[in-house]
Amino acid sequence: MLYVQKYGGTSLADAEKLMNAARRASELARQGIQVVMVVSAQGHTTDEMIRKAREVNRRGSLREMDAYLAAGEQMSAALMAMALGTLGVGAISLTGAQAGIHTDGNHGNARIRTIDTDRIRRELAAGKVVVAAGFQGVDHEGDVTTLGRGGSDTTAVALAACLGADKCQIFTDVDGIYDRDPRVHADARKFDRISYGKMLTLIENGAQVLHDRSVELARDRGLQVEVLSAFTSEPGTILG
Ligand code: ADP
Ligand code: ASP
Ligand code: MG
Repeated sequence: MLYVQKYGGTSLADAEKLMNAARRASELARQGIQVVMVVSAQGHTTDEMIRKAREVNRRGSLREMDAYLAAGEQMSAALMAMALGTLGVGAISLTGAQAGIHTDGNHGNARIRTIDTDRIRRELAAGKVVVAAGFQGVDHEGDVTTLGRGGSDTTAVALAACLGADKCQIFTDVDGIYDRDPRVHADARKFDRISYGKMLTLIENGAQVLHDRSVELARDRGLQVEVLSAFTSEPGTILG
């Protein structure tokens, strides 16, 4: 069995939350399930980095922005591997490039072209939990690219599809997909299941809970995705 689990920024915002996510993955590892974690930058790191970049260059080159922003996810991945180490679980962090994620050269909004899963499979076979930095890849020049805001969801779905994962779980700070943003509308209603088409319509209408390309990719690959809370153990929403 192989699970891909993605944890968003809020779900990793501090050491306690990071350990909480590490514990969730470690429980699976102890059951003999192979785990690929995909992590986002912690908390508001990406926003903060964008602000800092603008302080030195209001319209910085997209290539350098990618090189800079991808580091947010890389820090998360290394920290997560260390957190898993604390729990006695063998783990290795991989950047997008190390994870074999090849994209086009469209900096700031790159599309995944191919994934060479050799390295990930080797680490899994060696009994390690693989922690992949979300939101990034590498282009034909060997330059770091990013997939657009919210792109870690797409990393997770793409890896799940290419690895033939048994489950693709997206852990976030709400307990599923609602008909409206549950943080804004107290009477929003949660879906147990939602179709790809309906999800894409929600996103078109501004729901930023999932990266649009992650939903398109899941649809095209016929992959079910579970969206659930990183903080509770309640069932979430099944996409697809
Ligand atoms: P993550 O950091 O885990 O990627 P995001 O901030 O990208 O999390 O997405 C989760 C947020 O999406 C929630 O906190 C919620 O406020 C917002 N959201 C907007 N629309 C919806 C919706 N229809 N259903 C669920 N959450 C939604
Ligand atoms: N950290 C990136 C962002 O804030 C990617 C992600 O969270 O999925 O957009
Ligand atoms: Mg997100």
